[in-house]
Amino acid sequence: MLLTISTTVRPATDLGFLLHKHPDRVQEFGQSYGTARVFYPEASEERCTAALMLDVDPVRLVRSRGRSTPDYALGQYVNDRPYAASSLLAGALADVFRTARTGRCASRPELAAGPIPLEITLPALPCRGGPELAHRLFEPLGWEVEARAVPLDEGFPEWGDSRYVRLSLRGEVRLADALNQLYVLLPVLDDAKHYWIASDEVDKLIRAGESWLAAHPERGLITRRYLGRRWALTRTAFARLAELGDDLEEELEPPVEEEAAVPAQDGPAGDGNGTEAGVRRPLNVLRREAVLAVLGELGARTVIDLGCGTGQLVGALLADPSFTRVAGADVSSQALTVAARKLRLDRMPDRQRARLELFQGALTYTDDRFSGYDAAVLMEVVEHVDPPRLAALERVVFGAARPGHVIVTTPNAEYNVRYEFLTGMRHPDHRFEWTRAEFAAWAERICAEYRCTVAFRPVGDDDPEVGPPTQLAVFTLGGTE
Ligand code: SAH
Repeated sequence: MLLTISTTVRPATDLGFLLHKHPDRVQEFGQSYGTARVFYPEASEERCTAALMLDVDPVRLVRSRGRSTPDYALGQYVNDRPYAASSLLAGALADVFRTARTGRCASRPELAAGPIPLEITLPALPCRGGPELAHRLFEPLGWEVEARAVPLDEGFPEWGDSRYVRLSLRGEVRLADALNQLYVLLPVLDDAKHYWIASDEVDKLIRAGESWLAAHPERGLITRRYLGRRWALTRTAFARLAELGDDLEEELEPPVEEEAAVPAQDGPAGDGNGTEAGVRRPLNVLRREAVLAVLGELGARTVIDLGCGTGQLVGALLADPSFTRVAGADVSSQALTVAARKLRLDRMPDRQRARLELFQGALTYTDDRFSGYDAAVLMEVVEHVDPPRLAALERVVFGAARPGHVIVTTPNAEYNVRYEFLTGMRHPDHRFEWTRAEFAAWAERICAEYRCTVAFRPVGDDDPEVGPPTQLAVFTLGGTE
């Protein structure tokens, strides 16, 4: 496996400083599955090339594999892994160029900080999706891409192309960015089952992708493939990418064609999405549908979404003319800005616009604007409120605003064991996650304090042991207190 990085910056030998590897020496780095070497086939003032070569020991590779790898006897020993640039090369690159990837370089700080002319070549890169995908992944990052399918056998052109491409990238890119992009995109192109996927892969992806992934048009595909289509991990990554700026919620729904192409080998650990017809539906969609169904059953005409976030439920409510008045409130002005953009508020027809109110407000302070609705929705909101502030929210919603009904959804903590790689809570901003008993106890207390009744229903697949991924409660309040 070979990767070369060339530059024509003057003096080109400064590449040695940037990579923290001296151009005059061949350096070796032991890896658990082989040996990585760095050397410089050329090193002049005008042009300097560093090569990273990885020799994989197939036997060591097999022995260092995790338990989760499918065992197909001979296949473990006889496969392309030792020879094709893949996740192993990405791993070696991450290890060998660890400091360079951070962009730190005490001796050449300004060179490390900015774009330099770079040329990167990978003679044999496994590429599921062919040369076209290589273009789609690297071009948005400012690379001029040359990707050529490697024929199966030069002597027999009629056999067609192999799944390998010879890839050359040319561009003015910061070296640290280039290394991080390769680190993420090599395994994405390979799309093999990586034996090393672990829960800290989300952290690694976010760190390596910090400066470019959130804005990449193929971020959905990149994230899903990088994380081996582990849904719990992918969801976490999307949530965290969304925090980096853009809202990716809607991308949680996998494109059906891509999923269909993947045999359900190691299946999802069951993330609560109906598995009918092999197409899993994201939990946020199921949740929205469940809330809309309840509102329909209640015959609600006017609805306020409290903690509306980026306005997905508000959009669905507006699309249904039986809701005559729709409001969304959130404490986050950033969320409301995104909501306004997604709802195309500026271009909304007057008649629809007249049914909608979108405003900033905190649920822990009494606010007249929350009052006067048939129903209020608190979808995935209570768990974002600090427990000592929860009583204030209860007073504001159930005491002061007092809509006819309150629909509350919140994660069921018991279900978390079904998320293969989840450690801790589902979202970094969650202050708590309740078991079914805890949610029921909270609801019963609300009923006693604010004179109402409550009914529960599951959202998502109702696991016989741990219950559904989301729990939903419908409170019915009668008149003013
Ligand atoms: N209901 C949306 C968003 C859930 S995320 C959905 O289901 O997709 C939780 C939302 O609650 C965030 O947008 C956050 O800004 C909002 N939020 C948290 N605490 C709040 C408070 N005290 N007052 C108003 N909104 C709050």
